[in-house]
Amino acid sequence: GNVADSVELHKDKLLGGLIADGFDEQSCLSRYHSVTYSKGLSGNPSSYLISRLRKYEALHKECGPYTESYNKTVKDLRSGHVSESPACKYVVWISYSGLGNRILTLASVFLYALLTDRVLLVDPGVDMVDLFCEPLPHVSWFLPPDFPLNSQFPSFDQKSDQCYGKMLKNKSATNSVVPSFVYLHLAHDYDDQDKLFFCDDDQAFLQKVPWLVVRTDNYFAPSLFLMPSFEKQLSDLFPNKETVFHFLGRYLFHPTNKVWGLVSRYYQAYLADVDERVGIQIRVFDTRTGPFQHVLDQILACTLKENLLPDVNQKGDIVNSPGKPKSKAVLMTSLSYGYFEKVRDMFWEHPTVTGEVVGIYQPSHEGYQQTEKKMHNQKAWAEIYLLSLMDMLVTSSWSTFGYVAQGLGGLKPWILYKPENGTAPDPPCQRAMSMEPCFHAPPFYDCKAKRGTDTGALVPHVRHCEDMSWGLKLV
Ligand code: GDP
Repeated sequence: GNVADSVELHKDKLLGGLIADGFDEQSCLSRYHSVTYSKGLSGNPSSYLISRLRKYEALHKECGPYTESYNKTVKDLRSGHVSESPACKYVVWISYSGLGNRILTLASVFLYALLTDRVLLVDPGVDMVDLFCEPLPHVSWFLPPDFPLNSQFPSFDQKSDQCYGKMLKNKSATNSVVPSFVYLHLAHDYDDQDKLFFCDDDQAFLQKVPWLVVRTDNYFAPSLFLMPSFEKQLSDLFPNKETVFHFLGRYLFHPTNKVWGLVSRYYQAYLADVDERVGIQIRVFDTRTGPFQHVLDQILACTLKENLLPDVNQKGDIVNSPGKPKSKAVLMTSLSYGYFEKVRDMFWEHPTVTGEVVGIYQPSHEGYQQTEKKMHNQKAWAEIYLLSLMDMLVTSSWSTFGYVAQGLGGLKPWILYKPENGTAPDPPCQRAMSMEPCFHAPPFYDCKAKRGTDTGALVPHVRHCEDMSWGLKLV
């Protein structure tokens, strides 16, 4: 979009019609208040996307928990009966993996639901209700506690008889018997049979199954763009392909008031009154405990080279320039404290060569990943959201935490290359091709020819990722 568009959208609490009107504002302040801090949307959602979202909301209202249609389909599920034409078909998302992963997979599964006219129901897991507001008006997207398959979720795996890949191996996926439900294993360790989910012929079979239950930790949207059966719909929904997660994410993920308190207090206290905001997301995938000098060097090399932060004058005492100096706030996020402390001290001990003043802030340093602790993930979600509000973003390779921030913010980040053998790569970072997340474990299979292929070389809008050579991303 151009500048006029984003200025106009800024004033629009419904984000150009992306978000439905008619919610109770107090119960989820972030839904309509996020525009107070952010720059609005990056580009305009297509009118087709908007109309499909309104249609989806109507379908969900018709089929959501405890509606007549839901009760009937659940009864069928209990009895193993498959109705010829159930009023509603569902895709159930199992709560699985870290927060960033969960946000990406929910968006992917929602997209799949849109494409296949299914209703998405969300396993609340331990903390989904504390983190996210209900995104749909008048009806819940959470799976009720008495849903008959709930107790089986933990045991669903590739060896389950209902697993689609296993069914293919057993040759039990035939068109004559439609199962009442199928488990789709789309996690990083899935095998060649599980991956046939991404083939049109297999979709033709799955389409008849009333309940699909999915476990995934991957942003699989890019591979849906390689399926002929979805091609037309997807190009109408997203004329600009790099906005898939941006629009779906802004539609679906609204922090609860608890998390929004963390976001807005932090923003107002440290980030609101500066000329420019830079986010630096540090995620170090190393078995040893940091902080590491090479990572610090890499962060500084990248931000200096790309003009995101000014250099400091090691010999200077003070820069005396008239008037109010330009101010920058740097929001750093990391599990560890060390990087923040070094960068903050650098800008305190020395003047910048430009005379700008630079404030460095880091909301938390939780030490290590603590997936089951409530406040831990509330802080993590608040930090992701705060990063999305920055003007410029530096992210770490391979991190879904960073992908969510860039996607929600509509930002093309500078990606820090993954260090190898304890050394910072040169160049230290690269600007992303698009704001889209990377699909880390895509299939490399040509469904028509029934043989392997490089799925990153088939169409111009699905490419290999900057930070993972075998990954796929939309551009
Ligand atoms: P990924 O592992 O980087 O792809 O991201 P995930 O979000 O899936 O999993 C990492 C988890 O570690 C997060 O959910 C957080 O719980 C925690 N974590 C990682 N980096 C940070 C950080 O900078 N701040 C906070 N608060 N938590 C983090």
